[in-house]
Amino acid sequence: MNNNEKIPGVRTGNINELSLDKSEEVSNLLPALARSAEKLNSANGWPDGVSDLIDSLGLITGVNRVWLFQVLELSDKHMLMNFPFEWVDDQKYALKKRPRFITKHWKFETCSPTYRHLVESRRRGEWQCSMIHELDECDFKEYQSAQGVQSTISIPVMVQGEWWGLLGLDDCTKPYIWKDEEIALLRMAAHLISTAVLHNRLNSTNRQFEILSGLTESSAWELDINTGYCWFDSKIISTTKGLSDNYHQPLPQVLRYIHPDDLKETFSNLRNRLNNGDSTLRQDLRILRDNRYVWSEVIARISRDCEGQMEKVAGIIIDIPGRKKKEEELYRKATQDPLTGIANRGSFDDRFRLMIHRLQNEGIPFSLLMLDIDHFKKVNDTWGHDIGDQALKHMTRIVQGTLREGEFAARFGGEEFAVLLQNDSPVASETIAERIRSSVEGSPLVTEGHTIHMTLSIGVFNATEEHTDLDYAAILNKADGALYKAKKSGRNRVVSSQG
Ligand code: GH3
Ligand code: MG
Ligand code: MG
Repeated sequence: MNNNEKIPGVRTGNINELSLDKSEEVSNLLPALARSAEKLNSANGWPDGVSDLIDSLGLITGVNRVWLFQVLELSDKHMLMNFPFEWVDDQKYALKKRPRFITKHWKFETCSPTYRHLVESRRRGEWQCSMIHELDECDFKEYQSAQGVQSTISIPVMVQGEWWGLLGLDDCTKPYIWKDEEIALLRMAAHLISTAVLHNRLNSTNRQFEILSGLTESSAWELDINTGYCWFDSKIISTTKGLSDNYHQPLPQVLRYIHPDDLKETFSNLRNRLNNGDSTLRQDLRILRDNRYVWSEVIARISRDCEGQMEKVAGIIIDIPGRKKKEEELYRKATQDPLTGIANRGSFDDRFRLMIHRLQNEGIPFSLLMLDIDHFKKVNDTWGHDIGDQALKHMTRIVQGTLREGEFAARFGGEEFAVLLQNDSPVASETIAERIRSSVEGSPLVTEGHTIHMTLSIGVFNATEEHTDLDYAAILNKADGALYKAKKSGRNRVVSSQG
């Protein structure tokens, strides 16, 4: 049906077409609407405010019945509705509690064309004033007559552009012709109801989000790739210094909140996802909150436009300091020696294999130093195992104190240690070994009034391009061989493997 097609007995229309002359009778509606608007804006707008509004409309307009029905289901074939609100000036007009009015089901294939047209017009948001006696004989006329209605006006309640329900006012004692100004005010009443419905929906969404975000300690964000602006929820804004609820934050400003060490990984992760056509991103990173970095897990979804270009990245941030602490603890246990706190044999193996790989593939030389405490058994035998432990810790501190960037020390086992040096010349590696040896010699452990001197024997092997055919065991053997020679030749010395 097009907009202009007439239904006999029904006047329909769009709000913009109403003429709004001043009229005495409608003036009462305005304060009633203003009062209701206050209530509808309050926390209990839905349902208390709506109920009040329906009552005021009934009292002020002098109709016999005011009702509000809600469309529960609507398809091309059927409509299911219920009656959440009703006001009547006399109980004989009450419909709400009658069983068939609690919910009402309309099947369009068995409905009259008139009723279908009315539904179409309501879906478009049009008001309808019906004079029941002027209607052609049809189900709608029967339905209204059965309720004793002589004239009725209905105003659709539209929520987010969709037909949500219908506000209706029935006259059962005599028909009434509604004036345009009155229709306009009723239309405002319908708007107030739709605001309350929307408010209620937003509250539900907020509640749902709050429950989820409380359970997962998460907050939401969105990045618009085209504009480079980010949006954050109020939780992020309230816990992050410098962010305001301006809604938008330019990306460069936002990136300053990510720990510089994590930024590079974030970008390469994002790039990989994009190249692989992946639409999800998951990453742990440190985010600056109240002047300190907090470990957070970012889970995001990448959305693309119809041409496949990245359009938006949106997701949640979950605070994970607890989980990160456990992970770090596990990592420490897996990689550190519990007594001395330096790298354990496993970490040594990883680093050693990496250096062999680099030597073999990129020709980058390295040196391996094997360190063994001289006559350590005597320390244990003389002072006891506990002091022996202290001596091991002391020795480790001395060795570590001599190391510079790129020099890596690990406890190889017992009182043996290994040091890996990247890319050093043979002279440099022996100099470093000598530096370590002399530091240990010159720094005895002083404990419980005793001074315990220790010395180290060190075997050095410089793995250069000539040694690309040597594997893990062979290189270790070379350094061990040199260490053996250092022991044999009197201990407390550095010996380099020759060739
Ligand atoms: P050498 O100069 O030939 O290396 O003599 P050494 O006594 O150091 O060598 P040996 O291998 O005979 O003895 C090593 C000792 O180190 C024996 C062992 O009890 C001690 N040791 C190994 N691990 C620990 C440890 O964790 N704590 C303590 N207190 N002693 C340890
Ligand atoms: Mg030993
Ligand atoms: Mg020893």
